[in-house]
Amino acid sequence: MALIGIDLGTTNSLVAYWSEDGVKLIPNVLGSNLTPSVISIDDNDEILVGEVAKQRLLTHPQLTVAAFKRYMGTNKVIKLGKFEFLPEELSSLIIRSLKNDAESFLGVKVEEAIISVPAYFNDTQRKATKRAGELAGLKVERIINEPTAAAIAYGLHQQKDETNFLIFDLGGGTFDVSILEIFENVMEVKSIAGDNYLGGEDFTELIFKHFLAENNLAETDLDEKTRSNIWKQAEVCKRQLGESEKNGVISCTINDKLYEWKLSAAEFENIAKPLINRLRLPIERAIRDAAINPDQLDEIILVGGATKMPLIRSFISKLFGRFPSCHLNPDEVVALGAGIQAGMKQRDAAIKEIVLTDVCPYTLGTEVAVQTGSGYEKGHFHPIIERNTIIPVSRIERFYTISDFQEQVRVGIYQGESRLTDNNIKLGELVVNVPPAPAGKEAIDVRYTYDINGILEVEVTIVSTGQKQSIVIEENPGLMSEAEIKERLKALEALKIHPRDKTENRLLLARGERLYEETLGETRNQIAAALIEFENALNSQDEKQIKKIAKSLSEFFERLENQQQF
Ligand code: ADP
Ligand code: MG
Repeated sequence: MALIGIDLGTTNSLVAYWSEDGVKLIPNVLGSNLTPSVISIDDNDEILVGEVAKQRLLTHPQLTVAAFKRYMGTNKVIKLGKFEFLPEELSSLIIRSLKNDAESFLGVKVEEAIISVPAYFNDTQRKATKRAGELAGLKVERIINEPTAAAIAYGLHQQKDETNFLIFDLGGGTFDVSILEIFENVMEVKSIAGDNYLGGEDFTELIFKHFLAENNLAETDLDEKTRSNIWKQAEVCKRQLGESEKNGVISCTINDKLYEWKLSAAEFENIAKPLINRLRLPIERAIRDAAINPDQLDEIILVGGATKMPLIRSFISKLFGRFPSCHLNPDEVVALGAGIQAGMKQRDAAIKEIVLTDVCPYTLGTEVAVQTGSGYEKGHFHPIIERNTIIPVSRIERFYTISDFQEQVRVGIYQGESRLTDNNIKLGELVVNVPPAPAGKEAIDVRYTYDINGILEVEVTIVSTGQKQSIVIEENPGLMSEAEIKERLKALEALKIHPRDKTENRLLLARGERLYEETLGETRNQIAAALIEFENALNSQDEKQIKKIAKSLSEFFERLENQQQF
């Protein structure tokens, strides 16, 4: 039995564990530490996960799905062939694949996991993530904030004095800023802010759109395949721009016309300004909420693949007047931290346990009526537990009746940051009877208690009688019931998962199909012939022959990809 740490990313997912020699990442069956968070279904209704599925984004877009973490905690139904999935079910397939990789790597059964989530994930999103782990057959020991995991990976908890850190995490689809304080091995999240809809993919999109604009092309001019092809090149272009002195390039043929296009780092920086500006606000908010001065930040840590872009690094350096720390691979930091946390859970004597404290990521409060010139106006939000309060926490406030001989008080429970309850999310309601009395003579005490697992209890006490009434808000709207989980677990277990030992061959075929669709003429014929030869070898089941042809096929594809003559 083992415990693993999982970074369940929008773009890539990773798994780590705690070994005798410290934390280690576990490679997938293809030898990579990064498993793309992509799911696809093939003609035999078999589920494909990771790199193979990613290759199929282009060739089978209707049967393939990516970036579903964006919908975690919602009821969005995603159709794949004849199947329908909720976002947490798709996530569970990723987790299951990581679990299988870990089991075959470690040679033991894995039953427990620590899973990281963006610090800004709300309660519903956290619970959906936990459920995803359960649907993959794992007990989820803990949900950990990604930046907290990153801080642990950097060993920040080993710092001696009181220290403040800012963690800047720009992944594929999410942006998180967190300020952490470590004091005598207690790590406290002081504030978090972020943007759930900003990430490295937005920079790819920017290049994609700029390419179209500069070549007078409209998105409607492109068929799905051409679009995916340009998008992929935009991604390569983005990475090229990070290598010194290199321009990014895109070349493709649309309606028999060849487009060859270059993008310089300076121009990229220029067009990226609006996105860079969007990074500023959450940083400022996190600093403000933590009530510290930027000078008091001891270190700035970069996390997430998109922070490899030089323009992000220079933005941070300019903003804070110093260089950020990035000596660990920003893709891997979170998974490493989750793996160390797994070690701590196992009470490994080699690592000193640190105490983590978390914050409530959003404000919780109640609906009140406020006095206006002509009377009372309903629908105002009265915060009781403010965002970024350290949890567990319990807060109490007193409210008074507003009409003469009022018999009931309705306590609406909300989460959100708006002044008006209509714009916030309603979590529940308590209705209590109060003894009739003149307005303002009767009062209730409303206590909000938010525990470490994100469960909110609201208790109302009628002051004059001492009578109490309470409600526990555990199930959020849009989440499955226990019975539904059991049923879905069965359904998911019945899914045919593509056999691991055949993944490498499957990847070659998918890669070949993609290349076939991307190329024309003689190259295309060569690919077709090579694929038929490989399929024949696979049918012959002659392992030696399969290996031999796979090797030459993979070299052939590599040459084609390097030429980039799409
Ligand atoms: P997530 O946490 O959302 O899964 P990752 O931390 O894996 O995301 O980051 C993925 C993002 O990082 C993608 O948008 C990818 O394009 C970008 N990325 C990865 N490597 C580089 C690089 N060398 N240069 C620029 N962007 C990169
Ligand atoms: Mg990430």
